[in-house]
Amino acid sequence: MKVLIIGAHGKVGHLLIGELQSRNIDFVAGLRSQEQIKAYNDNNIETQFIDLTASLDSIKDSIEASGADVIVFSAGAGGAGYDRTLEIDLDGAIKTMMVAEAIGIKRYIMVSSIFSDNRSKWDASGIKPYMIAKHYADDHLRGTNLDYTIIHPGALTDEDGTGKVKLLGSNESGSIPRVDVARALAEIIQNPTTIGKEYTFASGDQATEDVFR
Ligand code: NAP
Repeated sequence: MKVLIIGAHGKVGHLLIGELQSRNIDFVAGLRSQEQIKAYNDNNIETQFIDLTASLDSIKDSIEASGADVIVFSAGAGGAGYDRTLEIDLDGAIKTMMVAEAIGIKRYIMVSSIFSDNRSKWDASGIKPYMIAKHYADDHLRGTNLDYTIIHPGALTDEDGTGKVKLLGSNESGSIPRVDVARALAEIIQNPTTIGKEYTFASGDQATEDVFR
C-alpha cells in the first residue's frame, strides 16, 4: 500500500505524515510548490508536485507518477476566497476522483466537513459556499466506482489529541484536534471495512480504533 496525501503541506496533512511514519505505512506527499518539495525531500519524505488548479492531464500525470494506490484528499482553499473554494474544494477534488477512476486507483478517502450534508445548517455557518463545495464533492464521490470513505469532522483545533472521539448525529456539533483527525485517517487507511462508509465525529470518549471500522 502507498498513500498519496493531497494537501500534505496542510495542518491535517502534516499530522497525517507523522501518523503514517509511526505506523510504517508508505506514502507520498502531494505538494504544490518547489519550496515545499525541497523542504520535505530534505526530511527524506517522498513528494509529488500536485496543483489542483492544473489541467486534468497534468494532475493525472502527477497522480500516476506517485505510484500510490490510496488517495487521501485533505486539501482546501482555506481563507483564499470562495472562487478558490470552488476551484479547489469542489473542482480540484472532483478532478482527482476522475483521475483515480481513469487510472485505476480504487481507494479514496475524503476529508469533508461536518454539516456538508445538512442544508439547514448552511446559512448560519457563515461559510455557506464552502459547505456547498464540500457537499457536491462528496456527492460526486458517492457516485463514482471508487472504494471511498468520507469523514465529516467537527471544527478543527490545534489542541493536543486525546485519541478519543464520538460519532455525531446529523444536527449535533462539536470540535476535534487535527491530530485526532489524522489518527482517524490512519485507522481508515488500514481498515478496508471502512469502505463505503461516512463518519461524522468530534472529540469524545471512544477509542479511535474502535470507531473507524
Ligand atoms: P489547511 O492547513 O488549510 O491545508 C489545506 C492544504 O490544501 C494546504 O496544504 C494547501 O497548500 C493545500 N492547497 C491549497 N490549494 C491547493 C492547490 N491548488 N493544489 C494543491 N493543494 C492545495 O487545512 P487543514 O486545517 O489541514 O484542513 C484539512 C481539511 O479539513 C480541508 O479539506 C478542510 O476543508 C477540512 N475541514 C476543515 C475544518 C475546519 O474547522 N477548519 C472542519 C472540517 C473539515 P499550501 O500549504 O501550499 O497553502
